[in-house]
Amino acid sequence: MDLFFCIPQSVRVWYANRRIGTEDEEMKAMVLKEISPIEKEPLKMEDLPDPVPGPKQILVRISACGICHTELDEIEGRLPPRLPMVLGHQVIGRVEGLGSGTTKFTLGDRVGIAWINSACGKCHFCKGGHENLCSEFRGTGCHVHGGYAQYTVVSEDFAYLIPERFSDAEATPLLCAGAIGYRDLTLSGIKKGQTLGLFGFGASAHIVIQTARYWGCEVFVFTRGQEHRNLARKLGASWTGGPEDDPPKKLHCAIDFTPVGETVPQALRVLEKGGRLVLAVIRKRNPIPPLDYARLLWDEKEIKSVANITRRDAQEFLPLASEIPITPEVQEFKLEEANQALILLKQGKIQGAGVLRMHD
Ligand SMILES: [Zn+2]
Ligand SMILES: [Zn+2]
Repeated sequence: MDLFFCIPQSVRVWYANRRIGTEDEEMKAMVLKEISPIEKEPLKMEDLPDPVPGPKQILVRISACGICHTELDEIEGRLPPRLPMVLGHQVIGRVEGLGSGTTKFTLGDRVGIAWINSACGKCHFCKGGHENLCSEFRGTGCHVHGGYAQYTVVSEDFAYLIPERFSDAEATPLLCAGAIGYRDLTLSGIKKGQTLGLFGFGASAHIVIQTARYWGCEVFVFTRGQEHRNLARKLGASWTGGPEDDPPKKLHCAIDFTPVGETVPQALRVLEKGGRLVLAVIRKRNPIPPLDYARLLWDEKEIKSVANITRRDAQEFLPLASEIPITPEVQEFKLEEANQALILLKQGKIQGAGVLRMHD
């Protein structure tokens, strides 16, 4: 008798290309066990048991996972994750197992998993389309194991089909940098033909600029690195400069991607009356300096932070990214190079988006 039929119905799982019963199967994962500066290389390679999909969950064989500033915040304790934790929330892979009751995917589908891993679905935030604000919000790679590993499981309701246009590595930044950037842009209230300022030019900004240009906005980029300025120009920025410089026009909207506090008054200074500054990071490394009300906030200027993402952000952005089309610039690393990749990210030395490859 096939082993499959010895397993009780309730825990039956369909697998493709793999033997049933996962107890003797292990996967490679980079695991965070304690909060530490990234320079101490706290992510350790370990063999973990393969995850098994529960009801309504899918098993994903991960091919690529993007790295993100949020992971630096988790590792260094500004956004402490549950420990031990497999980080990573820009996950691309193929469906390799189906838990009971799944209906949305078939084996072999290419899917992505983003920062939103689950929400309660019942509270007034969830019901109003603001599941990103749900008090039971769970983040991939923060509350639940994420993508710095060869396999993961996720509820089928929180996975997305990936448009064919993108390679696995190219698709990873669409799930965080891209989807959150899309949320930043929509929350900024930017309209066609208006001026947009981007402070910092990393993974998210280099995707946001392409969407903003597609929407007919004029984009000014404030960043110190010459290589980042060159990339910004290549992607359609009409002006680049430092965060203390004056752009040729005031900004209708600005998005601050930097992890430092000083850019907040710098952005408000060049914001048009009635303009809005969106803060796109989860945590700032240092405090925002005191704000001179008359000079920086009066005239109906607004500051808005962005928390998490909703499924709708990913669902709307992925086809838009394919339509534009977005061309993500990626720099690839092996899974075991995760510490070094994150150190480069912290130093601002990654062009575009950093991506870990899981299977060589
Ligand atoms: Zn992220
Ligand atoms: Zn909720």
